[in-house]
Amino acid sequence: MKIAVIGAGAAGYFAAISAAHHHPDARIVLFEKSGKSLAKVKVSGGGRCNVTNATFSPAALSKNYPRGGKQLKKTFSQFQATDTIEWFSERGVELHTEADNRMFPTTDDSQTIIDCLVLAAQEAGVQLRMQTPVRAILQDKDQFRLNDVSFDAIIVATGGSPKVTGFDWLVDLGHTIASPVPSLFTFNMPGNRVVDLMGVVIPNAIVRIQGTKLAEQGPVLITHWGMSGPAVLKLSAWGARELAQCEYRFTAQINWIGETNEAEASAALDNTMATFRKKKLANACPFELPRKFWEYILEKAGCNPDSPWMDTSKKERNRLLNMLLNDCYEVNGKTTFKEEFVTCGGVERSEVDFTTMQSRVAPGMYFAGEVLDVDGVTGGFNFQAAWTTGYVAGKLSGRAEDKDLD
Ligand SMILES: Cc1cc2nc3c(=O)[nH]c(=O)nc-3n(C[C@H](O)[C@H](O)[C@H](O)COP(=O)(O)OP(=O)(O)OC[C@H]3O[C@@H](n4cnc5c(N)ncnc54)[C@H](O)[C@@H]3O)c2cc1C
Repeated sequence: MKIAVIGAGAAGYFAAISAAHHHPDARIVLFEKSGKSLAKVKVSGGGRCNVTNATFSPAALSKNYPRGGKQLKKTFSQFQATDTIEWFSERGVELHTEADNRMFPTTDDSQTIIDCLVLAAQEAGVQLRMQTPVRAILQDKDQFRLNDVSFDAIIVATGGSPKVTGFDWLVDLGHTIASPVPSLFTFNMPGNRVVDLMGVVIPNAIVRIQGTKLAEQGPVLITHWGMSGPAVLKLSAWGARELAQCEYRFTAQINWIGETNEAEASAALDNTMATFRKKKLANACPFELPRKFWEYILEKAGCNPDSPWMDTSKKERNRLLNMLLNDCYEVNGKTTFKEEFVTCGGVERSEVDFTTMQSRVAPGMYFAGEVLDVDGVTGGFNFQAAWTTGYVAGKLSGRAEDKDLD
């Protein structure tokens, strides 16, 4: 039996190793168009590679995928984050968990992951063909022909493409492509003086996109150009299509204190006003906000940071409360989040059986990784999808009986 894996990224390597492991008699050939395999693993997680996330049930894991979560639940029941940890541990690579559940190799070096995958593939007898792009696949009954060689099964792990034409060869085989748009980006706010606070983190905000149902809660980081941080990045992922449609021009409405109950926020403010009557506003903040940011909000609300709370008028107090709960920012444009960038879009999920990763359109063809219309939020979820789909595609690609369409 001969199995071709196209694309030597995270998903392709994992698929090839899994195929070799589960089908020791098969010949596994891994094609890579460029001169460098695992290039994204190298730069991932700021050079540390956020391998997975300490989220240990298929149901909980699947909630982190704006596209494909429902389908991935089936695949995660075969290989999930605990399996990833075990897989790397068996090969001598231990992972550690950070406070926000992201998992990295204990070396904090992505090269550790690359070395592990390369060695595992070599030991499994995977034949690597570098600088060998696959441009077309011909399907003839039970066989696929690519680069003048016949294969019994093919695993496509070619990653995302910013242009829909990058998927033409899959369209030629009958597949439909969900048009690609970027996911995981930060918001640009040109001309807004909030950027003077660059580097400040507001620990628990709720960011809403006006005119949509999109809302996310979490830390917000003020950047050179506007805003980033987990709440913004999650919004960019869940709203990838809607935000592309409005050409990244919209109003972000921000609740800086993460409190949705207005009465509670109002009571906390009144309590501070009563308790710290003689203290300056700048020195007595009722909420968990960095001092620099608190002073900025006070000024934006027209309150003097240097005057005592007892001199604050009702009007000023109401303006401040409103500013804390409903502060608005015009967003115009986006910036790629370089720590972890993905494309949403790719092979339509309905055309793939996620229990096997086999195409429903071209039996014998399997998919793994970002080539699918599947993407996760930040935190190691994109690699987890690559490991999971790669593992399952590799395992099941060698089973001839799976070629039957359901
Ligand atoms: C800067 C950056 C940092 C990231 N950090 C993280 C992180 O820390 N954690 C996380 O979970 N996710 C992270 N991601 C996302 C993650 O890297 C991707 O989701 C993941 O790499 C997808 O793996 P893949 O194998 O599907 O695709 P890719 O990694 O894109 O690999 C596809 C491979 O296929 C090859 N190829 C394409 N077409 C052909 C062809 N026709 N013939 C032969 N070969 C072909 C490509 O050259 C490439 O090597 C990051 C992404 C970026 C860009």
